[in-house]
Amino acid sequence: MPRSPTNARYFSTRYELTGTRFLIYPQLKTLKGFDEPELVYIDAAPGTIQTGPQDDGIYVVDAENKMSYDDSGTWPPYAGPRRRPAEPDANGHFHHIAPGDGEFSSAMVFAAIRLVLSIWEHYLGRKVRWYFRDTYPRLEVIPRVLLAKNAVSKFGYIECGFKNPTTRSGPYCQNFDVVAHEVGHLILKDVIGNPPYRTVAFRAHEEAAADLVAMIALLHFRSVVQHLLQETKGNLYSVNVLSRTGELSKATQIRKAFNNKTMSKAKWDANPDDYKYQLAAPFTGGAFDVFVEIYQRHLVRRGAIPKRLADDSYNALGEDILDLQPAFAKRFKRKGEAFEAALLSARDEFARLLARTWAKTSMSDLTYPRVIEGMIAADLDLHRGRNIAIIRDSFYWREILPVKGR
Ligand SMILES: [Zn+2]
Repeated sequence: MPRSPTNARYFSTRYELTGTRFLIYPQLKTLKGFDEPELVYIDAAPGTIQTGPQDDGIYVVDAENKMSYDDSGTWPPYAGPRRRPAEPDANGHFHHIAPGDGEFSSAMVFAAIRLVLSIWEHYLGRKVRWYFRDTYPRLEVIPRVLLAKNAVSKFGYIECGFKNPTTRSGPYCQNFDVVAHEVGHLILKDVIGNPPYRTVAFRAHEEAAADLVAMIALLHFRSVVQHLLQETKGNLYSVNVLSRTGELSKATQIRKAFNNKTMSKAKWDANPDDYKYQLAAPFTGGAFDVFVEIYQRHLVRRGAIPKRLADDSYNALGEDILDLQPAFAKRFKRKGEAFEAALLSARDEFARLLARTWAKTSMSDLTYPRVIEGMIAADLDLHRGRNIAIIRDSFYWREILPVKGR
C-alpha cells in the first residue's frame, strides 16, 4: 500500500505505514462532524509504546481520587492508587481502546501529546527536551484529577481536570486543543527558556505562543482543515463572523486567535494570572493576521483567487468581509483543492517562522517588540523577508510596534 501524498502532509496520518495507531477527537465531540474519534498514527514503531501508555519520555498514570498537585501541595512522581492502564493490542497498537472504555482518557492524552511534539519537532528541526529533565527524566501525565476545572503544565507533569468538575463531565484530557496548548508551554520553556523571575510580558507571550502551537497542531487533521474551509468558503477573515453564529466550535484555538484586540484594549488586572491573558490576545491576533496574509498569498500564487480579491479582503473591515463571501464561495467551489494546498503551505511557512522566531528570542529581556524584531530577522533568514511588511503592519495595528517602520 503506497503512502498517500495528501495524508503525508498531515502529521495525524503521515506515519500511516510505520506508526502506532490511536484514536483522537480532534475537536469537541459535540461539534457536528466530529462526534467520532479519528484514527491517528504516532511516529513510533508498533511495540515501542508500552502499557500505560508510556515510552522513554512520557508516562501516563490514571490516578484514582487524586487532587491536583497544586491543591495537595505535593509533586511527582505519583505513587497512589490508580485505574487500569491502557494496554496495546497484540500488534502494539492502541486504537482498539474506544471512548466507552475506562482507558480511553489515558490513550488519547498520550497520543495528543506525542502528536503535538512530533509536529513541532519537525518545524524546530530538533527534539524537544524537558526543561525539568535534570530532576525528572520523563513527563508525568495525569489525565483526570478531582475538582480541577483547568489543565496545567508544570514542573515535571501535565494534569487535566474537567470543564465541569462536580459532574466530572467535559474531561480536558479528551480536548485536543487544551492538551496541545499545555504541550505548547513545554515546548516554549525548552526553546525560549524558563527564567527564575517571569515578567507578565514573558508569561503573556508564552500563553499566546502556546495557543499558536495548538492552532498549528489542529491544522494537521484533514477533517479540521476541510471543516474550516467549508465553513468559511476559504475566506479565513470571516472566522470571527462565523464564530458569532456558533458554526465553529467554541474550543477551537483558530477562533480564539481571530480577535480584534489591541494593546490599549487589554484590560488591566491586578492579578498577573488574569492580566497575562488580556495581554496575550493582541499578540495572538497579530500573529493570526500574518498567517492569513501568508495564506492569501499562497491562494493567489496557486490561482485560487485573483490578487484583487486578496487585496479587497485585506482592506475590508467588520461586516464588509461578508460582502466578499459570494466571490470566495464561487472560487472555492471550483478550486477547493487549491485552497487546501494553499492553507497547508501557509501553515508550514507560518509554523517555521514561529519556530525560528522563538529560537532567536531571549528569555532574559523578553518584550513584545523584541519578539517581533526576532520574527523579522527569522523571515529574512527563511523567506528573504517577503513577510516583513505584513509583520510590521499587523503588529503596528495591534499597538505592539510603536511605529510602522519600513
Ligand atoms: Zn496556558
